[in-house]
Amino acid sequence: MKVLKFGGTSVGSVENLKKVKEILISDHEDKIVVCSAMAGVTDTLVRLVENIKFNDTDAITRNLHKLEQKHFDVIDALIDDEELQNVLKRGITATITEMFEVSSQPYSKSVNSKIITYGETLLTFIFSGYLNIIGVANVLLDAKEFMYVDSVENPNIERVKHRLEQVLSTRPKSSIYITQGFVCKDSEGQISHLNRGGSDYTATIIGSALQVSEVQIWTDIDGLHNNDPRYVDETRPIARLTYDEAAELAYFGAKILHPQTVSPVVTKNIPVLLKNTFDPEALGTTISNAYHTKGLKAISAKDGITAIKIKSNRMLMAHGYLRRIFEVFDHYQTSIDMITTSEIAISLTIDNTSNLDKIVKEIEAYAEITVEQDHSIICIVGEAVINDKNSYKLFEILNYIPVRMVSYGGSNNNISILVDTKDKIPSLRFLNEKLFQTNNEMAL
Ligand code: ADP
Ligand code: ASP
Ligand code: MG
Repeated sequence: MKVLKFGGTSVGSVENLKKVKEILISDHEDKIVVCSAMAGVTDTLVRLVENIKFNDTDAITRNLHKLEQKHFDVIDALIDDEELQNVLKRGITATITEMFEVSSQPYSKSVNSKIITYGETLLTFIFSGYLNIIGVANVLLDAKEFMYVDSVENPNIERVKHRLEQVLSTRPKSSIYITQGFVCKDSEGQISHLNRGGSDYTATIIGSALQVSEVQIWTDIDGLHNNDPRYVDETRPIARLTYDEAAELAYFGAKILHPQTVSPVVTKNIPVLLKNTFDPEALGTTISNAYHTKGLKAISAKDGITAIKIKSNRMLMAHGYLRRIFEVFDHYQTSIDMITTSEIAISLTIDNTSNLDKIVKEIEAYAEITVEQDHSIICIVGEAVINDKNSYKLFEILNYIPVRMVSYGGSNNNISILVDTKDKIPSLRFLNEKLFQTNNEMAL
C-alpha cells in the first residue's frame, strides 16, 4: 500500500486531473489517494468566511454560485454523457446547498473550519465519480470519519489507525481509495482543519497509520530544489534528503512541503517522495534516512519574522535571567526560532505575534524591549553543514546585506541568518551564486 497526495495545481484543471488519472493507473499497487482542493478554491473559501463574518449575503451568494459553476465546468469537460454529468452535478449542488446553510450561521471557529474544508470535499467527489465512470474503480472515503487529530502538533496516529481500519473494513475492497486532505476532527469530534498546505501532512499521517511502503507527494515541480525557485533562477532538484534536512527546510520556508510533513513517518522510516505530476519520469526527491551525504544541500527563507531585543543591565552576570524571559514566551505559547545573546542583551525571533503586546508589557517591567517586524530567516541546510569547508563563504553576505542576527552551531545541520524581508531575494540570490555556482565542491 502507498499513499499518493496530489496538490492544488495537480487537481486544478481538467487536463491535470487526467494526468493524475494516468499516474494512478500506471501501476497496480494498492493506493490511498489524498487530494487537495482545486488551486485557488481554499482561498475563495477563506474569503467566504470573511463574508460570513461581515454578514455580506450578496457576496456569500456570489461566491457560492461561482464555486458551483467552477465545479460544474470541470464535470462538463471531464464527462461526455449528460445523464452522468447530471448525477455528479446533483452531488455538487447538494454540497453547495449545505454550504449556504452553514454560511447563514453566525461566524464561529466551527463555521470557519466547515467552510474552508469544503474545497477538498467538492473535488474528491468529482474526481472519484469521474474515475468510476471511466472504469477506474475506486472508493471515496470521508476523511472526517477517521482523521481524528486532537493535537495538530502531535497527532494521535494510533487513533487514526484504529478509525481508518474500521472505516476500511466496512467499505467495499478497492485498490484505489480517494480521500480529502486538510480536513480533520478535533478532540471533541468537531470538524477542524490542518494548517494551510496541510494535505501533505494528511498524507503522512495516513501513511504512518497504515504503515505504508511510501508516501508520494505529487506537485507542480520536480522535487525539492536547492533554493527557492520563485525567487532564484538556476535552482536544481535535490535527489535525496534526510528527514532532518527536509524538516528544517520545510519549517524554514520551502513551500513545497508543509512544515510538519515528515514528523509522522520518521520513526517508522517510511520514505517520502516528492514527484512532479507534469513530469512523472523525473527523479524527484526522496526523503528518508537511507542515504546520508554531508555538506550543504539547500537554502530556504521564512517570512513574517519578528525580531525582539531585550536589554537590561541587570542581566549582567545574573543567573536565572534567561529563564525568566523564556517563561514569558512559554506562558503566552509563543515559540522562539532564533536566539543570540550578549552579556547584557538577548535577541530572539518569533513568527506568531498574536500575544506580542502582552509579552512586551510583561518584559517591559524589568527590561528595555524593542520589536522589529518584517524580517525573514534565511536557512542554510545540510547534514553537518557547519563543518563544510566552504560554509565560510556565506558570511561574505555581510559585505553586501545588513544581517540582523546569525545562528551558527545551534544544530550541525543548519545555519540561519536574519535579514530585513526587503533584502530576502537579494540574499537568496547572493547565496545561490556563492554557494552553488562557484564550482566549490560542496556536496550535493
Ligand atoms: P501543492 O499545491 O502541490 O501542495 P505547493 O504550491 O504547496 O504545491 O508547493 C509547490 C511549490 O513550492 C512550487 O511550485 C515552488 O514554487 C514552491 N517552492 C518553494 N520553495 C521550493 C523549493 N525549495 N523546492 C521546490 N519548490 C519550492
Ligand atoms: N487546500 C488546502 C490549502 O490550500 C490544503 C492543501 O492544499 O494542502 O491550504
Ligand atoms: Mg502544498
